[in-house]
Amino acid sequence: EEEKKSENVEMQKKDECKPAVFIPVDRLPEIQAVRLQLPVLAEEQMIMEAVRENECVVLCGETGSGKTTQVPQFLYEAGYASAGGIIGVTEPRRVAAISMSHRVATEMNLPDRVVSYQIRYEGNVTENTKIKFMTDGVLLKEIQKDFLLKKYSVVIIDEAHERSVYTDILIGLLSRIVPLRNKKGLPMKLIIMSATLRVEDFTENKKLFRTPPPVIKVEARQFAVTVHFNKRTPLDDYTGEAFRKICKIHRMLPTGGILVFLTGQAEVHSVCRRLRKAFPYRPNREHTDSMETEDGKKSKRTRKKKNVSLPKISLDNYSALPVDEGDEDRQAGIDEEDDEGSDLELELGDHPDAGQVALCAEEKSDPSIPLYVLPLYSLLAPEQQAKVFRPPPPGARLCVVATNVAETSLTIPGIKYVVDCGRVKMRFYDRVTGVSSFKVTWISQASANQRAGRAGRTEPGHCYRLYSSAVFGDFSLFSEAEITRRPVDDLVLQMKDLNIEKVVNFPFPTAPSGDALIAAEKLLISLRALEEPPRRGRFGELERAGLSCPITPLGRAMAAFPVSPRYAKMLALGRQHGCMAYIITIVAAMTVREIFLNYDRPAGSEEENSKMAGKKARSAQMRRVWAGQGQSLLLGDLMVLLGAVGACEFGGCTPQFCEDNGLRFKAMLEIRRLRGQLTNAVNAVCSEAGVYLDNKLAPPTEAQVLCLRQLVLAGLGDHVARRVQAEELLDPKWRNAYKTPLLDDPVFIHPSSALHKTLPEFVVYQEIMETTKMYMRGVCAVQAEWIPKLLPEYCHFSAPEENPAPWFCPLIGRVRCHQQSTFYRVGWKLPSIEM
Ligand code: ADP
Ligand code: MG
Repeated sequence: EEEKKSENVEMQKKDECKPAVFIPVDRLPEIQAVRLQLPVLAEEQMIMEAVRENECVVLCGETGSGKTTQVPQFLYEAGYASAGGIIGVTEPRRVAAISMSHRVATEMNLPDRVVSYQIRYEGNVTENTKIKFMTDGVLLKEIQKDFLLKKYSVVIIDEAHERSVYTDILIGLLSRIVPLRNKKGLPMKLIIMSATLRVEDFTENKKLFRTPPPVIKVEARQFAVTVHFNKRTPLDDYTGEAFRKICKIHRMLPTGGILVFLTGQAEVHSVCRRLRKAFPYRPNREHTDSMETEDGKKSKRTRKKKNVSLPKISLDNYSALPVDEGDEDRQAGIDEEDDEGSDLELELGDHPDAGQVALCAEEKSDPSIPLYVLPLYSLLAPEQQAKVFRPPPPGARLCVVATNVAETSLTIPGIKYVVDCGRVKMRFYDRVTGVSSFKVTWISQASANQRAGRAGRTEPGHCYRLYSSAVFGDFSLFSEAEITRRPVDDLVLQMKDLNIEKVVNFPFPTAPSGDALIAAEKLLISLRALEEPPRRGRFGELERAGLSCPITPLGRAMAAFPVSPRYAKMLALGRQHGCMAYIITIVAAMTVREIFLNYDRPAGSEEENSKMAGKKARSAQMRRVWAGQGQSLLLGDLMVLLGAVGACEFGGCTPQFCEDNGLRFKAMLEIRRLRGQLTNAVNAVCSEAGVYLDNKLAPPTEAQVLCLRQLVLAGLGDHVARRVQAEELLDPKWRNAYKTPLLDDPVFIHPSSALHKTLPEFVVYQEIMETTKMYMRGVCAVQAEWIPKLLPEYCHFSAPEENPAPWFCPLIGRVRCHQQSTFYRVGWKLPSIEM
């Protein structure tokens, strides 16, 4: 007791060396003790001095050094949240915003109405909020409402090294906002926090900061991590390789948590499942003979032990299998169960440090120590995610099987071994065609080192790279900024709405390519969100117009909706025939990731497989029901979305209902929130719209469905596809295929689509995903005669004299004529219309 007290006094003393303004925080002694261990605490004075003396400060420090959790507290204690403004912290990931706000609230012993978070769909921000964690997109939206961000006294841009698009844009904007605020006598600070030292894009960029901001480096007390390369680099079965490596570590090496990096949820599931089978864990252990070896290898040593001491296989162990699948996992691979991997001896003998490790291996090789296996990825339910921060059950070894989220966003305590597959799953876009695909690619050297570093947080650790040092040598040094890899139409619209007309001149930390900017501007012009430049040939001469088309009133309305510009256009036009509530629902459902459960998981046991097949059939059946018939079937996959949301709301939107009907519960909740948010936005933009949100929505009438199809066409003008006609069918690869203006290759309606059998002549699609073929997702049938009316910017019109002679129409008092039109580039003949 006495000791604790005196410790406490010492800590308080430490606190007293702080600047004059000091807002006391009543932390629990055990929290304070843990804090004092963090490397950033040693630099508090230096950090705070730099912040006082500069408008902008860059802070670099290893992941886990305490940047995210501690710097907001330093600022709070130094009074930055007590003079009217609050402290804002942006995170590129929702997971981090939520979990960090909880952590900081706990550390500061303050309620969540003071340390709060805001992500797109939810938050607990109140008038009393002093520290606000949010996703970067949320702050960008706030800048639109209040360019000077007057409510903040400090903005921290966290995880800047991730180079997420919104983070980059925020840094660009804040580089202007902060000096402006200070000039107006409303002081404001900007802190950019990064896990890597590569911050030249921020500091050396003259467009961004005329005088480079100071860079403070936090020396993390990082323990040595011994890196072991594989001799051989498995090209396909790296999950199998990872599994075997974990088994070896668990069987042979001393205690300490294992963190495994894989690329997607399906892989995480598959490895978790195999590990749980190989090392079943039950709180009260039962003994049995029926045991499967972990890798099919009949190792005598382990086999013997297993037969005597290992408990029964049970799949309902500690952590339940997550039920959701992300869209990146559509191409989930099946593991080869019996691939021969590299050998343990080879592995350990491969490295100068091998002697030591081998020694450890001798020391401890008790396979009866339970393995506590946890999955970790971004779509995982938050309760499940939180488990990784808690200590494993006594006596068990923690093994976290994770995607890239564990690389920098979350620091998992107690990790001593890292297994790195060397890959990451990324979304790739074709800049010209807009086709996207998920591809597994090699990580950068910076990422690999970051991953390795996770092993040396509390004691010396080991990193097992499932690739050779030669392969590592070929990795690029750093990962590319996201902004260079994806379309930027949404960003360009947001910037235009901020009156940044010449987007090319924007101080991007890394600028998107000229092509991407032009593509974005073209799309926005064709959506009529931007004014058409004067002397512009049809889609030709925009380059000369200098990328500086101003925003239109329609564009402003569209910018107010937090969805992609194509969907925003549908919302902006949605006030017809009482369609608004429906189009809001469709847009919300198209925006939320993965609303259907994916039953194409890697194979499990026979019993599981048949269960899964049953669920899959049921889900397909439900989709057919939701698609309906006749007119509603023509709305296609969007009718399925509408039907699914409707059914779910009528069914009470419970986890059970979702599970029974093949829907992802979390996605349905997101859709509900987004519908609320979009309804508010629509009412705010257009006060007479007066849309009333009722979660339960009666099915649309036939007339409404017709109208919805036209609204969808109006937004997806550049996503029109036409079925290849019989006479054009030269090559069998074009059977049942569609042609699009931008692609030379055939695209198809996916077998899971509602329109797979209907094959209408003209369709629009939400996106094209390349998997085994190019598949259109979110397909809706449209009528040819709507195209010249709704998408005149995509049509070439014949001169009136080529058609039947114009005539005077007394009813409207002007000359009318028929005009023939063809669809741009591809020259599809469209029905003539009266003008
Ligand atoms: P950085 O931002 O520099 O990567 P953080 O501030 O995120 O570092 O983490 C500092 C420490 O706080 C780490 O040791 C981490 O494990 C711990 N930590 C973070 N979140 C939690 C949590 N929810 N529960 C327990 N410890 C946590
Ligand atoms: Mg952090």
